[in-house]
Amino acid sequence: MLIGVPAETAAGESRVAATPETVKKLVAQGHAVSVQAGAGVRASVTDEAYAAAGAQLVDAAAALGAEMVLKVRSPAPAELAQMKPGAVLVGMLEPFNAEGLQRLAAANLTAFALEAAPRTTRAQSMDVLSSQANIAGYKAVIMAADRYQKFFPMLMTAAGTVKAARVVILGVGVAGLQAIATAKRLGAVIEASDVRPSVKEQIESLGGKFIDVPYETAEEKEAAEGVGGYARPMPQSWLDRQKVEVAKRVAQADVVISTALIPGRAAPVLITEEMVQSMKPGSVIIDMAAGKGAPNADGTVGGNCPLTVADQTVTRHGVVIVGETNLAALVGADASSLYARNVLDFLKLVLPPAPKGEPASAFRIDPEDDIVAACLMAHQGAVTRKS
Ligand code: NAD
Repeated sequence: MLIGVPAETAAGESRVAATPETVKKLVAQGHAVSVQAGAGVRASVTDEAYAAAGAQLVDAAAALGAEMVLKVRSPAPAELAQMKPGAVLVGMLEPFNAEGLQRLAAANLTAFALEAAPRTTRAQSMDVLSSQANIAGYKAVIMAADRYQKFFPMLMTAAGTVKAARVVILGVGVAGLQAIATAKRLGAVIEASDVRPSVKEQIESLGGKFIDVPYETAEEKEAAEGVGGYARPMPQSWLDRQKVEVAKRVAQADVVISTALIPGRAAPVLITEEMVQSMKPGSVIIDMAAGKGAPNADGTVGGNCPLTVADQTVTRHGVVIVGETNLAALVGADASSLYARNVLDFLKLVLPPAPKGEPASAFRIDPEDDIVAACLMAHQGAVTRKS
């Protein structure tokens, strides 16, 4: 099969969907790989490295015109126009963006959105949400440390003692856990909140303290267990009590990193304007849900804090609020290598590696395969999203 790897065109996007390592493996399986010249530059991958791995270097039209196209972000209309009807597309195609999926179906693509893979053991090696959230959680802390005008670790010096930074993490999924681990390595004191009870042990094992908000009804407990590992919206009664506990911690915090998301819905508001007002001047909020919250009155999109402005850093009530929406792209090289490996693992399901010496296998869709079925967003002109 001819596999194309175009350069990403979204603003600020540094990642690329294949690396020399994954290209080499696809070529060894008998596929031809065409990489757009310069596609890897922002991820520190040179054209020479792709060529040495066996790729052909081509222009954008040739990469987008391949039988199968590997992307990071969903193609923009101008990119879609260059793709062949019937081609296969693999990428992070935003399964909850109904209009975007319609466009992929209208272009007659067979499109797989890797974010839709189930959270199962078999799907772990192709879990792009995890690989990218892990990187984003790390970068969020590094960015907070950079914006914060004080030390993270406690320091005892001849000139006096400096207190350790207090970091509050809201939402402890993959990104939150990595944020705790990274902040701990920098010497901060950490407290963290999540709706799911199972995270308490994970937080404590990383050296953080769980902000406990006990469940008072069966309904609260059931919602907190979530579905398929994901959170569900919590009853208002629990959210009200969580708010009281979180407000106390946020008022004392030097840094707040919020990551709380509920798939397919606006991110919950966890840091209200009153909480921001209660924070010390110079404190930092990294809102990792930026761009996924409810729209603000002025048309901008917030995150877990309504004062967040997607893709901007603003100072409100003396607090620096970072609304970076693509933290993983700020670690482009590693984000690309992990993403490219996720893609390669997914391809094994639709392009099974042929035994050595035999011709490359043909593309196939196995409707019985739960991962393939869950990721398939468009096929033969129709949107095929399952859930
Ligand atoms: P996510 O990005 O969807 O959400 C981030 C976190 O926000 C979640 O932990 C969620 O519970 C939390 N949250 C939602 N509403 C909240 C609120 N009001 N207050 C506080 N926190 C709130 O989550 P994710 O990182 O994708 O991880 C989701 C789950 O899936 C985790 O349990 C993770 O360990 C699990 N997981 C399983 C696998 C696997 O089994 N293969 C792979 C990856 C992740």
